[in-house]
Amino acid sequence: MINQRLFDHYGIDTKKNLQIQQSCARPFDTVLIDKQGSCYACECTAWLPQSIGNLQVKGLQEIIGSDMHRLMQDSISDGTYRFCNQSQCSYIRSGLFYQATEQKIKHLRLAIDDSCNLRCPSCRKGMIFHKEGSAYNLGIRLADKINEWLYNHKHPIQVHIGSDGDPFASHVYRHFMEQTPQRDNIKYSILTNGLMFKEFHTKVPYVINNLQELGVSIDGATKETYEKLRLGGKWEKILEGLECMAEQKQKYGFRFILHFVVQKDNYHEMEKIIDMGERYGADRVWLNKIEDWGTMDDFKTQDIFNTDEYNSRLDSLIQRIHKRDDRFIECPTLISEAVRYKNKN
Ligand code: SF4
Ligand code: SF4
Repeated sequence: MINQRLFDHYGIDTKKNLQIQQSCARPFDTVLIDKQGSCYACECTAWLPQSIGNLQVKGLQEIIGSDMHRLMQDSISDGTYRFCNQSQCSYIRSGLFYQATEQKIKHLRLAIDDSCNLRCPSCRKGMIFHKEGSAYNLGIRLADKINEWLYNHKHPIQVHIGSDGDPFASHVYRHFMEQTPQRDNIKYSILTNGLMFKEFHTKVPYVINNLQELGVSIDGATKETYEKLRLGGKWEKILEGLECMAEQKQKYGFRFILHFVVQKDNYHEMEKIIDMGERYGADRVWLNKIEDWGTMDDFKTQDIFNTDEYNSRLDSLIQRIHKRDDRFIECPTLISEAVRYKNKN
């Protein structure tokens, strides 16, 4: 049975019919696991909030293909997308979907520990770090269960680490990476704040050797902005980290991506972050509009997306995108927001 209260909480009408012709791949190729062990058939729990099973009580193999998993898949195949959060899912908003080709899990997204060495205001109200106690113990149990499943998994799969906390700061993720089975079919993708990369990447050589993508979230392109938005981070240390990541990229050939969450205090540095991406040899720079995760009391003040100054900076960014004529700069949520405002006025 679906958890209707959860859908009500997110304002998702489960009786809707979006009549989408394309088939989103995520319920077929992705499983996301959260810190309670709940599994989801999407890349974001706020987009498709129904759990398809819990790893504390069932094995991953049992959860994949369960009745609830099938129900989520059917809601995509029939085009209704009735369980999806149409106001948040960026694929529904942009109309561009990864299409399901075969029904095999290809992406495992781990959100099993929210420990981080920073306390960015856009993400949390205070420090979260589990080194012992029940959250830590559960995280370790989940990490071991996931590694056990991976050990027996024979198909190509990419394990994404770090959407909730920092993979190199978290003791749970470090344990996961140290224990991960050495199998040619398993590749990794890491999202980090980059501050502990230099110190810790040598401790997990197998993961770095099989790294497909390294993303660094860096919401400032100057010392002042960076240290204000990445609370607890030091500008000099992130520059050292970026240099080290650029060197490792040359050695191992992974895709190196910078992520920049555009908000009131940094929109004036959108072009500067592109310069940084070019300077450190990144493959891509992603700029995304800030989302409300309920951690900021004054979130409404972040809404600068209809101001003249922001729009003139967005215009310069778009000109730069046209000039480069490649996909080095990605900013789909900024563009869809600009279109939304234009249609509204
Ligand atoms: S359409 Fe969006 S919310 Fe629905 S399954 Fe795909 S990615 Fe998730
Ligand atoms: S670095 Fe990332 S995970 Fe850590 S507090 Fe900041 S936004 Fe959250």
